Amino acid sequence: MIFQLNQSVNQKIEIPNSRGIEVFIKREDRIHEFVSGNKYRKLKYNILEANRLGLKTLLTFGGAFSNHIAAVASAGKLFGFETIGVIRGEELEDKIESNATLCYAKACGMQFEFVSRDVYREKTSEEFINKLKNKFGNFYLVPEGGTNDLAIKGCEEILTEEDEEFDYICCAVGTGGTISGLINCSKPGQQVLGFPALKGDFLQEDISKFVSKSNWELIIDYHFGGYAKINEELVNFINEFKDQYQVSLDPVYTGKMMFGIHDLIGKSYFPEGSKILAIHTGGLQGITGMNQVLKKKRLPLIEI
Ligand SMILES: *Cc1c(COP(=O)(O)O)cnc(C)c1O
Repeated sequence: MIFQLNQSVNQKIEIPNSRGIEVFIKREDRIHEFVSGNKYRKLKYNILEANRLGLKTLLTFGGAFSNHIAAVASAGKLFGFETIGVIRGEELEDKIESNATLCYAKACGMQFEFVSRDVYREKTSEEFINKLKNKFGNFYLVPEGGTNDLAIKGCEEILTEEDEEFDYICCAVGTGGTISGLINCSKPGQQVLGFPALKGDFLQEDISKFVSKSNWELIIDYHFGGYAKINEELVNFINEFKDQYQVSLDPVYTGKMMFGIHDLIGKSYFPEGSKILAIHTGGLQGITGMNQVLKKKRLPLIEI
């Protein structure tokens, strides 16, 4: 089995008054039109492993708008696996048609198991996994968010030789798998900055388990109140960014990271003349779902 991913290009964005600081965006979002770039990176070696083990089904976990669910469904279709998504929230069972992520996953052939939030919390327990095996037969288990050793190996392929010129590598952080891969393949003079998309004191420790270098830091000031929390200021930033640079950002991860980078440039965090590479990890499939939430709250919508 061949699992080939395109190398993504670095796009320069001209930020006004940036004191010689240069910002480039690595367009990992372009790896697939609908699926997050980093989720494909994380799946690559897991899919090869499932194939090696002779397993024909991938099972994973996620929420209603999960980029990871969309990615597993899409990869399953592309590489000939059955896919099962264990979805948080029983109430979603009747709402598949009004949920863009679940609709897409279903169209890719994903089968769903909707569970209550209480049951979902058991997602790593052996008892629950065995119940799922009784119901669906044997499968290759991909953890929620897709992070494991093989996922990190895939993320170590994001940076290339030509990226060695950058002083800072920035990325959004969910479970910490992507940043771990970036840290592992960074060069000694480079600093890796992670922008957590959620409140989580556990992240520092989780990432430490996967890396052996210390040239990294989490910038915890830009989660906007927590996972998938969003306000008008962030929506406006995302829309203005798109108008200015023709680059769409997602509201859960990359929008918060770019907001943070932009804000830090304004606060003179980066030395003059620094070269920054921001990883666009994708996630654009989640915009439709977020716009439904924004509409209910009578907030401005994200332009698609
Ligand atoms: C999942 C995701 C992340 C976070 O990746 P982790 O490896 O879980 O830290 C960042 N950006 C986007 C767009 C994602 O979908």
